[in-house]
Amino acid sequence: MKYLAQLVGTAIAILTYATPSTAVTSQVEYVTPPKEVSCACRKLALASPRRIVLPGSNNYTTQATDSYWDIRAALSPACVFLPNSADEISTAMRIIGSCDAPFAVRGGGHMNIPGSNNIDGGVLLALDNFNQITVTNSSNTVAVGPGQTWYDVYSALDPYGRVAVGGRLKTIGVPGLTLIGGFHYFNNKYGFAMDNVISYDVVLGNGTQVTATRSSHGELFWALKGGGGNNFGIVTRFVLRTFEAPRVTTTIQVFNESAVPGFLSAVVEAAKLDDGEDTIAAGMVATVTYNTTTKSVSASLLGVQEGASMPPSQFANFSSISTVARNNVTTLKEFAATLDTPMQMFRIVFVHKTIKADAEALISIYEAWREAVEQISDVEGLSPTFVPNVISPAAARVAKSNGIGNVWGLEEEPLIIWQFSTGWAHARDDLRVESWSRLLSERLHAINQEKGIASEFIYMGDAGEWQDPFAGFPEENVARLKTVQRSYDPSGVFTRLNWGGFTLSV
Ligand SMILES: Cc1cc2nc3c(=O)[nH]c(=O)nc-3n(C[C@H](O)[C@H](O)[C@H](O)COP(=O)(O)OP(=O)(O)OC[C@H]3O[C@@H](n4cnc5c(N)ncnc54)[C@H](O)[C@@H]3O)c2cc1C
Repeated sequence: MKYLAQLVGTAIAILTYATPSTAVTSQVEYVTPPKEVSCACRKLALASPRRIVLPGSNNYTTQATDSYWDIRAALSPACVFLPNSADEISTAMRIIGSCDAPFAVRGGGHMNIPGSNNIDGGVLLALDNFNQITVTNSSNTVAVGPGQTWYDVYSALDPYGRVAVGGRLKTIGVPGLTLIGGFHYFNNKYGFAMDNVISYDVVLGNGTQVTATRSSHGELFWALKGGGGNNFGIVTRFVLRTFEAPRVTTTIQVFNESAVPGFLSAVVEAAKLDDGEDTIAAGMVATVTYNTTTKSVSASLLGVQEGASMPPSQFANFSSISTVARNNVTTLKEFAATLDTPMQMFRIVFVHKTIKADAEALISIYEAWREAVEQISDVEGLSPTFVPNVISPAAARVAKSNGIGNVWGLEEEPLIIWQFSTGWAHARDDLRVESWSRLLSERLHAINQEKGIASEFIYMGDAGEWQDPFAGFPEENVARLKTVQRSYDPSGVFTRLNWGGFTLSV
C-alpha cells in the first residue's frame, strides 16, 4: 500500500498538480459594486439573511478565493449567495433579473477560466449547500446535488458495487463536468457523463423550476448534454445512471523520456480499441511532464479497467514499454481517493486542439511542445504538462444510438485531444504563458489542418478561455442550442448577466 501511495504520488507530481516552487499569494481587491449589484445583494440579504456572505466577513475568503483550483479564478464578488434549496435559487434569479445584476455560478470551482465561476463586483451564487446524494432502491440511478464532487458520488455508490460516469480525479465538481460533457475512465463503454444523465432539475433565468427528461422539456434535456453551464439555467439536481463495477483493476506506470514516443503510440492505439458488444470499460489519464529542474520529461499513465483481471489487458501496449508499473485490484472510490487536486495551487492555463488518431502526428506535436517549453523555462514556478486524451469510436456511438444524442454530435472515429496544461507562479507572467500556449497550439493545429488530420472539436474542460467550443460543434446543433436558449431564457438573463466561461453567442 505504501509503495502504491508513493507511486501515485509520483504520478500525481507528474500530472499538472505539483506545487510550484515559489509560494504564491492571491490579492483580493474589493470593487465598489454598481447600483444593479447593490440592489441584488440588498434584496438577497433581505430575503435570506443567513445565506449572504459579504466582503470582510469570515467566510468571504473561503467563498471568493479558497474554493477555486486556479489562482486566477479567485475574484472579488460584491456578495456571495449560498442558497439551500431550489426555491431559494428561484428567488435569487428573480431578484437578479429584476435588478439586472451581473452574476456567476460556482459548482466545484475547478474550471480554470477566470470569470466562468466567479465574478468581480457582481453576485456569486455558490452551490456548496446542494450536497444531497440519494441512491435509488435498485441502485440503478443516483440523484446528486451540484455541490458534490465526483469522489462523493463514487463513495455513495461504493457499498452497492456500482459506479457513475464522472470525473477521473477526486475533487472535480459534479455540475461543471456533467454540463460540459465529462471524460471518465469508462467512456469507451458507457459514453460521456452527459450521456448518462436521466434528468436535470433546472431553475430558469426567470425563476421558474422545470425538470428536463427525455419526455418532458426534451429540447432543454438535449441542450444540457454538452451545451455547457451558464447558458440555459442553474441545475439543482442531476439523476445519473449507474453501472455495476464492484472491482476495478488500476495500473500506474511511469516512463522515461526515451520511452515517450512509444507511450504516445500506445495512447493512439488505445483510442482505436473498439470491441463492439464485448468492449471492456477502460480508460486513463495520460500525461507527459517537463521537469524544470532536470530539464527532462517523463510520462505517466493512470489506467483503470473494469473487473479484477491482472494485469489489466487493455493496457498491455503500455506495460511493454513502462519503466515502473504497479497494478492493483481496488474500487473506483479507493483509486479516486488518491487523486486529489487541491485548490489555489497555481495560476494555470489549458489549451487544446484535436486530431484524428495518428501516432506520427501526435509525436510531432509532442516534440514541438518539448522544444517550445525551453522558451518559457525561466518562468517562475513553471509546471508544463502535455496531456493526450482519447475519444474512442464506441464513446461517440452511445449518443448515436440512444435516441437522444448530445450537443457534440461526434462521428464514430478515434480522436486524440492534445492539450497543453501550463502552471506558473506570478501574475506578471500571465500574458507570456497564455500567449505562448495560444500561439504554439494554433501553429501546430494549422499544420494538422494542412495535413488533413485536424478535427475542430474543442472540449470545454480542456480549452483556453480564448477558444470557442461552439465553433467546433455541428452548425445545426449550435442553431438548435440557440433556439433552446431563446425559448427557455427569453429575456436573456444568462446571455446578458452571466457572460463568463463558454457562453453561447447572442
Ligand atoms: C484538475 C482538473 C482535473 C480535471 N479532470 C477532468 C476529468 O477527468 N474529466 C473531465 O471531463 N473534465 C475534467 N476537468 C475539467 C472539468 O470537468 C471542468 O473544469 C468542470 O467545469 C469542473 O466542474 P466544476 O463543477 O468543478 O466547475 P465550476 O468551475 O464550478 O463550474 C464550471 C462552469 O459550470 C457552471 N456551473 C456550475 N454549476 C452549475 C450548475 N449547477 N448549473 C449551471 N451551470 C453551472 C459554472 O458557472 C461554470 O461556468 C478537470 C479539470 C481540472 C482543473
